[in-house]
Amino acid sequence: AKTEERGGVRFYSPLMHADASTRLLIGADLRLALGRDEFEIVYQPSVELRSGRIVAVEALLRWRHPERGMLMPDEFIPIAESLGLIRLIDERTLQAVCAQMQAWDRNGMPAVRVAINASASTFGHRGFVEAVRCALQMAALPPSRLLIEITESAMLSLGEETERKLHALHALGVGVAIDDFGTGYSSLAYLKLPAVAFLKIDRSFVTGVPDEANDVVIVEAMLAIAKSLGLRAIAEGIETEAQHDFLLRLGCVEGQGFLYSRPLPPAEIERLLRPSRKH
Ligand code: C2E
Ligand code: CA
Ligand code: CA
Ligand code: CA
Repeated sequence: AKTEERGGVRFYSPLMHADASTRLLIGADLRLALGRDEFEIVYQPSVELRSGRIVAVEALLRWRHPERGMLMPDEFIPIAESLGLIRLIDERTLQAVCAQMQAWDRNGMPAVRVAINASASTFGHRGFVEAVRCALQMAALPPSRLLIEITESAMLSLGEETERKLHALHALGVGVAIDDFGTGYSSLAYLKLPAVAFLKIDRSFVTGVPDEANDVVIVEAMLAIAKSLGLRAIAEGIETEAQHDFLLRLGCVEGQGFLYSRPLPPAEIERLLRPSRKH
């Protein structure tokens, strides 16, 4: 969470542990980073739990900072958000991901679903749907191949505008996932919108199964909601066989986590997906 204070913005964990002056420096560097093309994208596989088959990948951003080395999203995305730079970064990422998908298609890679993350302000911008349409068109991709992950808190203001936008994405054929499900404070009204087809169960709940009774109850309830509303549940942050077995037994179809794979650079994803290399 973030609290506004006179004279600046103060961040609390888990945003960043760096001090205010470091954040100022990073903010200044962020403006340069776009021009210098310092961002990289890694992709984390999402697997069908029953078979272990990779059915999708999620694009996750990294920043190769010239002096600080590789920075993780938690170290710069909150800063980019507070400086109003996240939309530019997200739209650039969207274009790069579409170009990557086009390259994969041309190389004969199996056509998996690819998910991108959109911050609340990115999704909230009036030009968002058009940006998505353009990026897909530029890369000549079928919209159904793209999934947009929006956090539950970005739905907070589910008003006519948000609903209209979700409908527009749906009409375009792009999928929408509710990210970090269970961590926001919004109503569940958006779950019944036709545009919302995926629900990602936050890692904080997955971590506790099968041992923590409360987490078990919550995950069971989430899977029940997903099932009865016809949503596909994706469990995040699966790290152990015990978590995998529990989720599979409860009817969760798909999951992501270090148990299967960490986020990987495109070349390694290609190696994983290329059917010829499996034999
Ligand atoms: P997220 O969308 O919930 O992504 C999942 C995060 O959990 C990723 O961290 C991933 O590396 C990590 N993860 C996956 N499996 C496991 C696991 O088994 N155990 C543990 N401990 N962690 C796991 P990452 O890459 O550091 O990204 C953090 C967050 O930054 C993302 O959370 C997302 O909210 C945001 N983010 C990443 N890329 C973008 C982007 O391009 N745009 C925007 N707006 N946000 C992004
Ligand atoms: Ca995500
Ligand atoms: Ca998530
Ligand atoms: Ca998360």
